[in-house]
Amino acid sequence: MTTTQTAINTFVHETGAWVASQLEACTRCGMCAEACHFYQATGNPEYAPVWKIELVRRAYEQRFTLGGKMRVAMGLDKPIRDEELGAWSKIVYEACTMCNKCALVCPMGIQLGPIIHNVRAGLSDAGLVPEDLKAAVQKQKEIGSPLGATDSVYDQRIEWVADEWEVDLPMDVQGADTLVVFSSIEVMKFPENIAAIAKILNKAGEKWTLSHKAREVVNFGFYEGNEELTKLFMKRVFDGARELGVKRILVTECGHAYDALRWTAANIMDVPDVEITHVAGYIWNLVGAGRIKLKQGALDDKGVITFHDACKIQRRGGHIDEPRELLKILAPNAFKEMTPNKEQAICCGGGGGVIAIKEADPQRYKVFEMKMEQANRIGAKTVAMFCSNCRLQFTDGVQKYNPPFKVAGMSQLVADALVE
Ligand code: SF4
Ligand code: SF4
Repeated sequence: MTTTQTAINTFVHETGAWVASQLEACTRCGMCAEACHFYQATGNPEYAPVWKIELVRRAYEQRFTLGGKMRVAMGLDKPIRDEELGAWSKIVYEACTMCNKCALVCPMGIQLGPIIHNVRAGLSDAGLVPEDLKAAVQKQKEIGSPLGATDSVYDQRIEWVADEWEVDLPMDVQGADTLVVFSSIEVMKFPENIAAIAKILNKAGEKWTLSHKAREVVNFGFYEGNEELTKLFMKRVFDGARELGVKRILVTECGHAYDALRWTAANIMDVPDVEITHVAGYIWNLVGAGRIKLKQGALDDKGVITFHDACKIQRRGGHIDEPRELLKILAPNAFKEMTPNKEQAICCGGGGGVIAIKEADPQRYKVFEMKMEQANRIGAKTVAMFCSNCRLQFTDGVQKYNPPFKVAGMSQLVADALVE
């Protein structure tokens, strides 16, 4: 079977009635283009969301519609060729963060993000995944982490965090209420997040645990569009939850991991009967229930602080108000919104696996420039966020451009302001 046939077969397999109706509904108005940060930042017409689903549309029309078949027969449309697929791989993996902002503006209500995910699924089956992303996925498959956190590295890091921040990190506690699953980004790049979340949960008197079996919340199979690996990586988390008999899985500062576990898992596999929640909402609930108290105005003297909305935690996950409520306590006089914000906020540019692909750097930095400009416009001295992947993108961008603001994880800001 040719590469093209493999990809098309996957598109067709994925093109159920829902996708077909979405494709039929598109009027080619082009309104989605201006919503896409990659298109806005570069002006490249190939980055328009409607173009990113063009491959599925052509496959669908040529396989299923009389008009599509006739257009090919009459030479008005060409059958999809192997040579074209490589170009599409670059577009959908290197210039789409699966943020789904385009769907917000589409007058026909077309869910472009999930359809672009289908394009990735076809390209994944055809073996047309960017090398950097493929390598990260393989690492997660083989050693349990795309960032090189093997079992022993994970143990060393956890032990070091416990010593360095003098914090209790319970491991494999049978019958704990809450299983906390960090991402490799936190384990390897932002270990202070681990200490911060532990400090908050310990202060609240939460019965929580880490798990050796469920030690990676990131899902690079999901980024790739590889369903088999997506399920394998989710299964590792769910097996850990089942083994320990927890009531809930607490996803830490990772947006795509939350999206995958919270919204996608139940549609593709057997999910244990546990609550799946995100630390953004959970921390606010702890404050609301009086289980932790925060120093009012703790950050008011540090200059303007703003909040970056992570696509998968805020727009997709709905945790829009909780971070703002926290910031109204921590910095009632210094908190300022960037524009656009909340559901309308633009992506940082590094999500969806884009930050892992070196060849995507030019457009990734262009998008960061837009975000940086939004923060600079309000004189921000700190940009806070609840997603470590966004934080990695911001940290990298700050190193490159040296803007007058620093980057902070929300959990850490909360932990630093806990009333002892
Ligand atoms: S905004 Fe919606 S209808 Fe218009 S081109 Fe984009 S996907 Fe099609
Ligand atoms: S999902 Fe986001 S990055 Fe992808 S095309 Fe839509 S707006 Fe652009």
